[in-house]
Amino acid sequence: MRKPLIAGNFKMFKTVAEVRAYARGLRHSLDGLSGREAAVCPPFTALAAAAEEFKGGPVAWGAQNLHWEKQGAFTGEISAGMLSELGCRYAIVGHSERRQYFGETDATVNKRMNAALGAGITPIVCIGETLQERETGQTIVVLERQLQGGLQGLAPSASIVIAYEPVWAIGTGKTATPAQAQEAHAFTRGWLAKNLGQAFAASTRLLYGGSVKPDNMSSLMAQPDIDGGLVGGACLEVESFTRIVRY
Ligand code: PEP
Repeated sequence: MRKPLIAGNFKMFKTVAEVRAYARGLRHSLDGLSGREAAVCPPFTALAAAAEEFKGGPVAWGAQNLHWEKQGAFTGEISAGMLSELGCRYAIVGHSERRQYFGETDATVNKRMNAALGAGITPIVCIGETLQERETGQTIVVLERQLQGGLQGLAPSASIVIAYEPVWAIGTGKTATPAQAQEAHAFTRGWLAKNLGQAFAASTRLLYGGSVKPDNMSSLMAQPDIDGGLVGGACLEVESFTRIVRY
């Protein structure tokens, strides 16, 4: 069975002190959590503090990005080994903001995914279409291209998470309807079954992301192929993220 995962993406929000305060609050409010998993991805600068605050509790932590090389002259970059040293269980890879503003491509998504796996970190690989792509009927073609390029060469024994995040729903307040999300998730699971095998498809968690809020989480989670959420804005407050995790 797939254990639901609800992951929060802090993006470029929160100082170290703010992450500490948040972590203490979240740890308390998610005390006794069972049957689902919660994780947060703060900025790199606050990962060490998050590790200290969350250690031994119900919330895992992860990074928002990583570089594919182990070390070297790559100014400003962070390696998978550096993240595993801080106890990161997850790393978001290929978020649409990285694709849109920082030149991320399916080929670099693939390298980052492999680097994470090599360091024992589970990559959360993001895919999703823009509004224009949806309106011109290209959603499935785009998802297929992103899956093909991003997951190239992946061994069926590897463990990854995929987040379907329609770009038009991220930070806009416009959530995909449960039916729209389910359609994309069902396609993704079918693609995984065809390309990586039935067992891989059945065990891989597919998260939905894009304006997830406490009041729409339950209807999304009622869909058979939605196994959790990747949450941006609504994860920044302990109270709203707690309500989403405890949907
Ligand atoms: C995200 O950043 O991955 C995201 C889904 O953001 P939001 O929940 O704010 O739409």
